[in-house]
Parts: sequence; C-alpha cells; structure tokens
Amino acid sequence: LNVIDAAEPGLHAFLKVSADEARAQADEFDKKNIAGEVGSLPELAGVPIAIKDMIVTKGIETTAASKILEGWVPPYDATVIEKLKAAGMPILGKTNLDEFAQGSSTEHSAFGPTRNPWDTSRVPGGSGGGSAAAVAAFEAPLALGTDTGGSIRQPGALTGTVGVKPTYGGVSRFGAIAMASSLDQIGPVSRSVLDAALLQEVIGGHDVRDSTSIPMEVPALSKAAREGMRRDLKGLKVGLIKQLGGDGYQPGVKQRFNEGVKLLQDMGAEVVEVDCPHFDYALAAYYIIMPSEVSSNLARYDGMRYGLRVMPPEGVPQTAANMMAYTREAGFGDEVKRRIILGIYALSAGYYDAWYGKAQQVRTLIIHDFEQAFEKADVLISPTSPSTAFRFGEKMDDPLSMYMNDIATIPANMAGTPAMSIPAGLSDDGLPVGFQFIGPQKRDDVMYKPAAALEA
Ligand code: GLN
Repeated sequence: LNVIDAAEPGLHAFLKVSADEARAQADEFDKKNIAGEVGSLPELAGVPIAIKDMIVTKGIETTAASKILEGWVPPYDATVIEKLKAAGMPILGKTNLDEFAQGSSTEHSAFGPTRNPWDTSRVPGGSGGGSAAAVAAFEAPLALGTDTGGSIRQPGALTGTVGVKPTYGGVSRFGAIAMASSLDQIGPVSRSVLDAALLQEVIGGHDVRDSTSIPMEVPALSKAAREGMRRDLKGLKVGLIKQLGGDGYQPGVKQRFNEGVKLLQDMGAEVVEVDCPHFDYALAAYYIIMPSEVSSNLARYDGMRYGLRVMPPEGVPQTAANMMAYTREAGFGDEVKRRIILGIYALSAGYYDAWYGKAQQVRTLIIHDFEQAFEKADVLISPTSPSTAFRFGEKMDDPLSMYMNDIATIPANMAGTPAMSIPAGLSDDGLPVGFQFIGPQKRDDVMYKPAAALEA
C-alpha cells in the first residue's frame, strides 16, 4: 500500500485502491486460520492482488472505466474473486483499462490514462494497462486481467510482465463484465511464469454459473513451470508461426524474438515453421465478430438498471427511449460507440451473411489452421506485439493502426487456445519486448514449461 501511495500520482494504474477492505480481508483470513478453519495454508495466502475493473467485486465500485457504470457497487463477487478470497489473497483495488476493455493503450479510459512505468510518456498497452503497470511498478505482486483480443498479453509485452490468457472456458467468466462473450477470458498478470501458474491454479476450474466453463481439473501448471525452470526442452517441438513472424514488426522486436528462438533450440527444443494461412484474416474477422457481440452485450446499459441515468432536457419528450439515448450519449465514449455502431451494422438483416456469417467462416478456418499446426508442433510461438510501447496520442486518431497491435494475439481468442506473453529483454529503444507461446486447447501446461525455461 505504501508503494501504491508513492507510485500512483505518476502512473494512475488504479481506479480505486481498497486499502481498508484489503486489511479487513487479511485480518479475517488470519482469524480463520488461527481458529484452524482454513486447513492447510494455500500457497498464495497473504499475497495481495490487483483486479482489472472489468471484474465485479462485492462492495467495491466497479466501472469498466466507463461513465455509464460510475458509482455502481456490485452486490456480488465474480467467481474468481470468491476463489481469491478463499485462498487468503487480499484485494488491493481495481485497475484502469480502456472503457469496457476496448482498446490497446488504456487511453480510452473515461477516467484518464495509465502511464507505462518504463517511460511515463508512453502507454502501458491495453486494454489491461492498469493491471500490467501495477505489477511492473511493484504496486502489486499479482493482478487479474481480461483478454478478448490480447488485453492481458499485449500490456504484458509493453510493460515487461507475464500475461496469460487461459484456454477459453478454463477460468470462470461469471462476474466478468461481458465485452465479446465468445472471446473473453480472465487470466493472470505477474512478474514470473511460476507466479502466473500458481495464480491460474487458484482461479481456474469448472463453475456451474458459467455455461461455457469446461468441466475439467486445472492442468498441473506450477509443476510444468517448475519443470521448465530446469531448462531442458529435449523432445519438445516448437512451431514458429510463419504469418506472425515478419512484416511490420519493429526490428528490435524481431531481434529479441529470434534470440529467444535460439535459446529454445539451445535448451534442446526442435523448432519448425508452421503455416497458418488464415491468420492473415484474423484481425478483419475479429473486428466483425467482436463488435457484433459488443453491440449485443452493451445493450443492457440502458439507464434503467445500472449506474448512470440522464433524463432528456426540458422541451424534449420525457420518454424511456429518449432517456436511453441521452444516457448512452453521455455515458459511452467514442470508441465504445464506434464498436456498437459497427456491430449493429454487421448484424443487420441484409448484411448479416456478408459480414457476420463470413467472419464466422473465417473463424472456423483459423481453428483448422491451429489444428494442423498442432499436428506438427507441441507449442506455437510468435512475438506478442509488433512494437514496443508507443507514445500517448500516437495512435488515437487512427483506429486501424491501434487495431494492428492485436495482430499476433487475436488468433488464440478466435480459437479458444491458451496463450501467454513473457518478457524477452529490451528492444534497442530500451523498452520491453514480449514473446508469445500458444498451447493447444485445455493444455495450458504445455505452454508453461517452455515459457518458464525461456524466462530462466
Ligand atoms: N485491443 C483489443 C481490442 O481493442 C483487445 C481488447 C481486449 O482483449 N479486451 O479489442
């Protein structure tokens, strides 16, 4: 909490610090433990954690960095929050993000941006820039994020932290504010691969309250990470994704990536190139499917049920429809409005087959690409993001160049595969570079081993 006090004026990683709640939670857990009600002490007991403000926390304001939810205090905890509490992990507060997790820089937060601890004139990535900056600046040892197209991994790359998107359905989404439900996944942010594994073991597992949750045990992730730390990768086949290695990447990013590949080989891994031809269309298909789901999910913010309500001014008929229009006009930012409009267009009769239907077909082809790639390799690799952290304002007037940040992270969301970014040294501009591992569905352990090996 002292580090948070010292760092926050320069960073703004947190939207809310819940110091009193964290202390009360720790005290309560202590009492239970002393009374013998806890049983064997969970491995992460006492380790505090920061939570992206896209995840609901009982009694602590949750806004998704949007004016439309400002002041909303949830009456319940997300499943992951319940699990953290049961494991004795105090909640430090809620971290900043692009409004409703839509963006790649955290500049779209309605409450002001977060700064990158490595260089405060630069963005920390997004949408989960707050969680990544909090962990990078030692304000929190661990954090949670949500990843729909890269929002855990790309901020991880830009801040030199570890970010994991688990297998779709591997961690309950109950209590995660929905952005694009078929792509969203909660996951760990940490400073080491083993920390991420331990955290995912706490938050993972089946949940009857999430209909897309997979009824299976969490794979042995910390065991895989510990094995990886021995730096022996003999017998492991690593697939370098041809479509994600090349054009448009900053030279320093490519260089660090290539060195990482060499290190994997030195540790005994066999590196083969895999061809995923439909990945070239992943970004385009994502920007049809994601806004379609956004337009549907965000329809619930109508001024009736949550947060903000703006009544029409005098002289304008005081109808429910007008109230909704004025509420949404005042409550949503430009990027969120842009995506709602895109989604409604893509889903409208007459365009549905041409846009949404086509994008779903592309999604299936991407899944096939992954299936074929995993016949040739155990785990896939690419750089996480085409560039290091960029400056504030650089991409704000050009949504397409902002969207390009997600080129390497989106395919895993489209296919539901697990993926993670780990730090791979600094580019020639002195800023962190991310190295991405992608595992087969339900086998998150397969990516944890080489990730831990490369980190070590
Ligand atoms: N940057 C991507 C987007 O703007 C990813 C967002 C996310 O993963 N939540 O959609």
